[in-house]
Amino acid sequence: MSPTSPIRDSAVRIGVLFPDLLGTYGDGGNALVLTQRLAWRDIAVDVVTVPAGQAAPDSCDLYLVGGGEDGPQVQATRELDESRALHRAVDRGAVVLAVCAGMQILGHRFPDATGTDVPGLGLLDCDTVRVDRPRAVGELLTAEATVPDPSGPPGATIDLGVLTGFENHAGRTVPGPSSTTLGRVEVGEGNGDGTEGVVCGRIVGTYLHGPVLARNPRLADLLLGWVVGVDALAPLDDHEVDDLRAERLRAARANELAPRRSWRDLLRRS
Ligand code: GLN
Repeated sequence: MSPTSPIRDSAVRIGVLFPDLLGTYGDGGNALVLTQRLAWRDIAVDVVTVPAGQAAPDSCDLYLVGGGEDGPQVQATRELDESRALHRAVDRGAVVLAVCAGMQILGHRFPDATGTDVPGLGLLDCDTVRVDRPRAVGELLTAEATVPDPSGPPGATIDLGVLTGFENHAGRTVPGPSSTTLGRVEVGEGNGDGTEGVVCGRIVGTYLHGPVLARNPRLADLLLGWVVGVDALAPLDDHEVDDLRAERLRAARANELAPRRSWRDLLRRS
């Protein structure tokens, strides 16, 4: 599991947790991105899709937890809390990408559909709260993002460049003292305090949908590098993604994708 470990002889196991509960925002695409980036490098991959009600395995190398609505995310939390499969996997060094509701449920607490606090899984040091602000909807762009290098010397970081995606959430997240954030928000809301994302060890939480790994291949390769070792990741031709990123960055900075007026506003003003 170390970033310098040799090329492995077994398939990389990717666990996609409860896409029927946490698949509202297209985050299932993150599994496709990881699968393809491994296939391009001739690294075998085994994607394990875990529907609600089915026991999550604790044997995966990398877990994907996506975004969803307030009610379903409570059910996902209950199942993972009861099985403790994700806790065991993380203890073993498994990598996790948790997006929006996924990040919220991995924290200490988050609000359910009635606004009542629900205990989270406690794997990420953060709290999610309801605030008296409009839902955060639109393009989300960070300044230069970094994560601490979990196996480097103290203070070592890995650069991810600017992160791009879209956000759609009511809750806001307060990172705790033993976590770091991905970086500062340039456009959008993110955590709500000017920062975006929560990182603890090899668990990366983010408000970025897109899917985030389709828009940010360096983040995809960071997660894969933690599993297979960076030496196993031959460089890929990402020029098409670079074009997409340049276009999205320009659009976000030009505020072209500001939330449109709602149908209620339109009726009121017509
Ligand atoms: N239900 C959560 C919220 O609104 C998460 C939404 C999401 O996953 N996009 O804060």
